[in-house]
Amino acid sequence: MNRFTLVRLPTLEAASLRVAKAPQTRRFRAGGIDLLDQLKEGLDAPDELVELRAVGGEIGEAMRGIREQSGGWSLGSLVTLAQLAEFEDIGVAFAALREAAGSAATPGIRNAATLGGNLLQRPRCWYYRHVDLECLKKGGSQCFALTGDNRYHAILGGGPSFIVHPSTLAAALVAHDATVVVSTGAAERRIPIAELFVLPTVDPLREHALKPGEIIVAIEVPKPGADQRSTYAAVKEKASHDWPLGEVAVRARLAGGKMSDVRVALGHVAPIPWRAPAAEAVLEGQAPSAELFAKAAAAAVAKAKPLEHNGYKIPLVAGLLREALHRLTAVPLPE
Ligand SMILES: Cc1cc2nc3c(=O)[nH]c(=O)nc-3n(C[C@H](O)[C@H](O)[C@H](O)COP(=O)(O)OP(=O)(O)OC[C@H]3O[C@@H](n4cnc5c(N)ncnc54)[C@H](O)[C@@H]3O)c2cc1C
Repeated sequence: MNRFTLVRLPTLEAASLRVAKAPQTRRFRAGGIDLLDQLKEGLDAPDELVELRAVGGEIGEAMRGIREQSGGWSLGSLVTLAQLAEFEDIGVAFAALREAAGSAATPGIRNAATLGGNLLQRPRCWYYRHVDLECLKKGGSQCFALTGDNRYHAILGGGPSFIVHPSTLAAALVAHDATVVVSTGAAERRIPIAELFVLPTVDPLREHALKPGEIIVAIEVPKPGADQRSTYAAVKEKASHDWPLGEVAVRARLAGGKMSDVRVALGHVAPIPWRAPAAEAVLEGQAPSAELFAKAAAAAVAKAKPLEHNGYKIPLVAGLLREALHRLTAVPLPE
């Protein structure tokens, strides 16, 4: 690991400018979990880390807190996964967010890892993480997963790189139509969460659309409709210390015995969190039932194109979606 300087600047503008001036050699540091992993693994060698937790004033407070506002909730980018998992005031309408945050990684990591850093962590693909392999994501000419050991890779939206997006919070936030608030201190912009993520067809070198020096200050979720609820389900090889093999986040309103405003997002199946509009269309306006859920699950994975070793993800994710829908609507699971 190279030597670096930790820079603590009190304003967002100063922190943003510091990185914008030398984006190749300076990085923001939030919880530091993925950043330091990358330094230790020899994948990145910045000479300066700019400590986001040093930002003070009103904006610093907003970045560290969860606040109800007229249009919904603002989740500060420095809020930790543990803080969100324990934040009961957000209620059943946003249960998927709490469940996702509480299921990620380990209790120790959740205490340090932040929402902003979670969304921007780099892929876990073992070819990308291998310091000696110059894969497509590192400027090389090929994705080794295409013909290699691709058991953890993409079944949807893959190519030319077949990574899966690693963030557990991402699918849950997509299911909630979140907006990412990004700032340089001097200028602010709002990005619908689905547009934060970049497919490898657009640029295989990066997974997000932030410009150099832009800082995520908050993630906003809109005020829930009446009777909104949401839930999250995942399967992992290990109960802890691991990323999911597949995950699902579902949000819907349930009134008069019908489902509406349905959102289905899948995780760890594609290079970006993957919304499943075909499944949403099956569910929208319908009365919940086991038969309907089976149809929605089939629709969610109908376009999947598995690689040699990851075909198991199709029934896994379809099963997870059915489980999540049963839990969401309290329709009993079939025998
Ligand atoms: C054993 C293990 C298991 C794990 N399991 C899971 C899991 O199941 N699910 C999951 O999602 N994750 C998992 N993780 C990954 C972990 O959750 C992430 O590394 C962590 O959430 C990253 O957040 P951070 O605050 O530490 O980000 P950092 O490491 O500080 O930053 C990550 C990146 O984001 C940039 N950045 C951070 N904050 C901002 C901001 N506000 N604005 C602009 N740029 C920013 C940094 O410059 C850096 O490039 C696991 C990690 C380990 C070690």
